[in-house]
Amino acid sequence: MTGFDTVVVVDWSARSQPSPARESADAIWIGVATGSDVTCHYLRTRAAAEAFLVQLFDEALAAGQRVVAGFDFPFAYPRGFARALCGTDDPLGLWAALADRIEDGPDNANNRFAVASDLNRLFPGIGPFWGCPAAQETPDLPQKGTKRRDFGLPERRGCEADLPGAQPCWKLFTTGSVGSQALLGIPRLHALRQRFGAGLSVAPFQPPKAAIVLVELFPSLIAGTVAALAEKDEIKDRAQVRVLATALKALEPEQLDAMLAQGDPVEGWILGLGDKALLEAAAQKALGRAPLDPPPLRDDCFAMPRGVDWVPVDDALDRLRHGLRPVTGLERVATAAAAGRVLAEDVVAQRSNPPRANSAVDGYACSHIAITEGPQRVPLVAGRAAAGQPFEGAVPPGHAIRILTGAILPDGVDTVVLEEDTASDGASVAFHGPLKRGANARKAGEDVEAGAIALPEGHRLRPPDLALVSAVGQGRLVVRRRLRVAVLSTGDEIVPDPGVTALPHQIWDANRPMLLSLAAGWGYETVDLGHAPDTERAIADRLDLGAAEADVIVTSGGASAGDEDHVSALLRARGALQSWRIALKPGRPLALALWRGTPVFGLPGNPVAALVCALIFARPAFSALSGAGWIEPQRFAVPAAFSKRKKPGRREFLRARLTEAGAAEVFASEGSGRISGLSWADGLVELPDEAQDIRPGQPVQYLPYSGFGIL
Ligand code: AMP
Ligand code: MG
Repeated sequence: MTGFDTVVVVDWSARSQPSPARESADAIWIGVATGSDVTCHYLRTRAAAEAFLVQLFDEALAAGQRVVAGFDFPFAYPRGFARALCGTDDPLGLWAALADRIEDGPDNANNRFAVASDLNRLFPGIGPFWGCPAAQETPDLPQKGTKRRDFGLPERRGCEADLPGAQPCWKLFTTGSVGSQALLGIPRLHALRQRFGAGLSVAPFQPPKAAIVLVELFPSLIAGTVAALAEKDEIKDRAQVRVLATALKALEPEQLDAMLAQGDPVEGWILGLGDKALLEAAAQKALGRAPLDPPPLRDDCFAMPRGVDWVPVDDALDRLRHGLRPVTGLERVATAAAAGRVLAEDVVAQRSNPPRANSAVDGYACSHIAITEGPQRVPLVAGRAAAGQPFEGAVPPGHAIRILTGAILPDGVDTVVLEEDTASDGASVAFHGPLKRGANARKAGEDVEAGAIALPEGHRLRPPDLALVSAVGQGRLVVRRRLRVAVLSTGDEIVPDPGVTALPHQIWDANRPMLLSLAAGWGYETVDLGHAPDTERAIADRLDLGAAEADVIVTSGGASAGDEDHVSALLRARGALQSWRIALKPGRPLALALWRGTPVFGLPGNPVAALVCALIFARPAFSALSGAGWIEPQRFAVPAAFSKRKKPGRREFLRARLTEAGAAEVFASEGSGRISGLSWADGLVELPDEAQDIRPGQPVQYLPYSGFGIL
């Protein structure tokens, strides 16, 4: 389907007189977004708003354009209401029935309280509608919600159950009286339906294919963003329709289509529910504050204070940590495909887990109160409760019921006796009392409560997290786009392909396969930039490619300040180079720069130093760029199985592995060209800056490869 040319957002009003001539909050506000433009309109009566929409729709149809128009009141009621009124669940039938009853004059004078009172008479007890001025109270329409009883309908629709700030559609008076808005809004929409016929459809009750599509909205869904993007002294209702119309217009057509495709055919749906982050990002992108793709890093993000010569490792890490932030935009994925992705918004439990109290074992359920001390013989009710097969009805006092693991505890029982502790002849069950209340039962919400944050924004999803997210009913997640990491090797001596013959003065590229697979193992997309000889031109071409296709570039080789250090020369001339001389062995030069706005990590060429710098600096930095925040490697103290003297004032990392006794042994040679040691090792030993003399048995910090995501 093609997108919509115009997005209209209407903030409705249930006033009984015309709104003030001067723009105010208590009125109908209409935001109209077309192209990249948005206009706001102030309407003093519902009749004027209807006329405004008729004209707008007429003009759109004449121009062959499509309009989606959203309204901030419910398009339908909790299940059961339409059926009681019209004999069917069809919400559009209910629209006609309400339109028949409601009288709403050109001056906003209307009969909504009388209609609500009449409607209440169709239901037993008192209710469901409530709320009115004192003078309008009737025996059927109470002023207070607490006076209602036994009307036999749910208080809310499914889509509103956990929606913060949503008011029940039965409430007709005072703050957030969305009930009156619906009673006075639905008949106006019904009139539009009649006028435009097949040219207009109502989501989600009809396929959203007509030229004009009406849909329900809830502007408070993005209240924080509206407040952040409001103009100075802007009336809140105006800001709401302006920002929301802009956000919906800024969505990709497929995103809006996906939102329109959702919903409940009986109770309706609030457009964008579950897609808050997408709407907010779209609003921010369109209104130019914090774009969907975050702004590029600033030139000075790698700046070191002047006069610093040797940078201690901790200072360097601190700089990176504070200079970097996420550079990846948002997208939505199915939960099942979300492993390794970074959450771009909190995951909120759609409902409690478990949703209802259930049995933790196979056995017999009864009420603990009925059970005294000593041998018990309790009659069984017919039937049983099993997982997925609930027992309908209540267990009478003094009875027990056969129950299986995962079954909802039926009414009348709270405690389960383990099957192994019972004997049963099918008619009754015998066991020993007393019972501890709630034994062998899981409480509703004992794992996660509805509305709780199951996982926070910025969390990188691991397989166990997918279990949690699924258990709390989240089928789709807003995540960050995967960070794209480009890897380039440099040096005239390098032969990129180990399958090709190398002359004696040449060596095969050891760094690129290592760095590419490291980045892939960290969950990033990789871009192989191959190899560049030591010429500025060749290196610049590859960096251009990297900047176009990746979010961060890693190079190895040529990063020092010598004659043949072409990467640092080029970055100094054209890439805002910050060359960090880090008090680190192996490692030392780390070239940090921005190439056309894309951060470049220039690692040393030595494979040993390249790996250490990648693990210690690039790994946490990439995590910050990816949206998952800064990360620390896992480290723990083990006894040294070696002795070593070292210069104070610099950090050292030794290639190490654990002996069977759990001590750290280190690779025989510290030569930074000894690639075999990297492969021999299972981790690194980290010697602190000030350490000098390490003796066998002394505790040292061991950082396993696995803690760096190397499996
Ligand atoms: P550089 O940082 O360019 O001075 O290189 C330091 C050492 O690392 C030199 O001995 C290079 O030959 C070696 N080297 C640089 N890049 C690589 C690579 N991709 N694979 C293996 N060794 C390399
Ligand atoms: Mg070189």
